Amino acid sequence: MLDQNLKNQLAQYFDLLKTEVTIGLSAHNDENSKKVKEFVEEVVGLSDKISLIEKDLPLTPSFEIKGSFDHGRIIFAGLPLGHEFASFALAMLQAGGIEPKIDDTDKKRIESLGQADFETIVSLSCHNCPDVVQALNIMAILNPSINHTMIEGGMFQDLAESRDVLAVPAIFKDGEFFEGGKQSLSSLLDKLGTKIDKGEFDNKELFDTLIIGGGPAAATAAIYAARKGIKTGLVASEFGGQVNETLSIENIPGFKYTEGPNFMAQMKEQVSSLGVDLMTGVLADGIKTLDDKVELSLDNGAKLFAKTAIIATGARWRLIGIPGETEFRNKGVAYCTHCDGPLFKGKNVAVIGGGNSGIESAIDLAGIVKHVTVLEFLPELKADEILQKKLKSLSNVTVITNAQTTGLYGEGRVERLEYTDRLSGEEHKLDIAGCFIQVGLIPSTEWLEGSGIEKNKMGEIITTKDGSTNVERIYAAGDATDTKFNQIVIAAGTGATAALGAYNYLMVNE
Ligand SMILES: Cc1cc2nc3c(=O)[nH]c(=O)nc-3n(C[C@H](O)[C@H](O)[C@H](O)COP(=O)(O)OP(=O)(O)OC[C@H]3O[C@@H](n4cnc5c(N)ncnc54)[C@H](O)[C@@H]3O)c2cc1C
Repeated sequence: MLDQNLKNQLAQYFDLLKTEVTIGLSAHNDENSKKVKEFVEEVVGLSDKISLIEKDLPLTPSFEIKGSFDHGRIIFAGLPLGHEFASFALAMLQAGGIEPKIDDTDKKRIESLGQADFETIVSLSCHNCPDVVQALNIMAILNPSINHTMIEGGMFQDLAESRDVLAVPAIFKDGEFFEGGKQSLSSLLDKLGTKIDKGEFDNKELFDTLIIGGGPAAATAAIYAARKGIKTGLVASEFGGQVNETLSIENIPGFKYTEGPNFMAQMKEQVSSLGVDLMTGVLADGIKTLDDKVELSLDNGAKLFAKTAIIATGARWRLIGIPGETEFRNKGVAYCTHCDGPLFKGKNVAVIGGGNSGIESAIDLAGIVKHVTVLEFLPELKADEILQKKLKSLSNVTVITNAQTTGLYGEGRVERLEYTDRLSGEEHKLDIAGCFIQVGLIPSTEWLEGSGIEKNKMGEIITTKDGSTNVERIYAAGDATDTKFNQIVIAAGTGATAALGAYNYLMVNE
């Protein structure tokens, strides 16, 4: 089951266990049970600190991880391999007495939660699923009233289908659908209604520079500012930005290959190690300048003050504004091909958008699903020639240009897409089980309304050579600004520029 390499890795992790861990196995005689049993027995054989007992759990095959302290139930139903292997290893370590690495504020928010039973349906190829599994397991570790079961959708296909799961991760709370798609610990805590108390921000001193955002632009600005020795704070709804959604990155100089979440985890560590006051789990909802400082207001009612501010709130997926788009989210409307593609195996899907991301998605999907229809609004695809060439070589893809998608319809889930041929005006219907929307991104800058900060017609903040905006003391960087290209190194570069710009301002004026 586990190759020697994985066994060695796990054995090294298990050396770190501080206290005993018991695995309670629920298995029968079927093939899947045999696989889970084999996995668990191999794991138990790797450390004297791990013991195995039989257990009757609600789902079979599954196993429970239990530490020697009072914590919530952590169950893995199915095999935690693929992307979930790390979730399993972390749960073992945390049950074995290794404290989860999370902010104190998140810890307090978890401790304040009431009783809840969570289940997360995952696929092992989904790179957004481990964040959710790990976040809910951490909640169970820190709060005995929280229980969490990871359910591997491949092994529990009937259960996934009976719950109409068409996108993973699909999170259920007390048996009801709770949330789907990419989530972080902070966003889950927000959705559970545990806002960071305003009081947590009461005693913050005046910052020299306050950075708003948690992607590569904000992180790099924080590194540059902190290394200049100025008092630096960073406010972000969550740390990682779009990079967290990127499975493989191959264009960062010095890294032949890296994965988004790992890369941003390293950035976070670097930012924290430089003494930056990292405040996650809150949204900035307004900014203005007072006589000699900037005032930033947060969605929990708190206010922060700084001599200078750097806005790096990036961009997010654009909605196309058609009926069904939001109603069917996670019920056939999807954004992440790697995560949700396997759920449409053998079915017909559509991809809206003929740019690079749309065509990349169509190529990925063609290898999994029965048929892909790409709908492009313009007369021709906008994707790079090399991608178009690859697309044309695939026999199960149809491209329709000049197609204006008008709506997504179905009974409880997407069953049909309707579009109008923009040349003839004819209306058409496509029977589909899923629709991947890939029509680009919009800058997250609406919250600046009324601030006086100048934006272009796309909503991007207009900056000058040193990253300054038209409002004194306020700088900006990354995808939220009018940079011509949106890439990680460019976001990082503009973050550095804005931090140096803000630092120069302080040197000259303060
Ligand atoms: C699927 C995908 C794949 C990509 N692949 C690559 C690649 O391979 N190579 C490459 O170079 N680039 C790639 N990019 C582009 C790259 O990720 C972006 O250009 C880069 O992340 C922009 O960084 P940023 O810091 O400006 O903003 P973002 O990464 O968008 O981060 C913005 C941050 O601000 C936070 N935020 C937003 N609003 C608020 C608010 N009001 N208050 C507080 N916080 C807020 C968000 O939570 C987020 O943390 C990819 C993008 C996507 C979507």
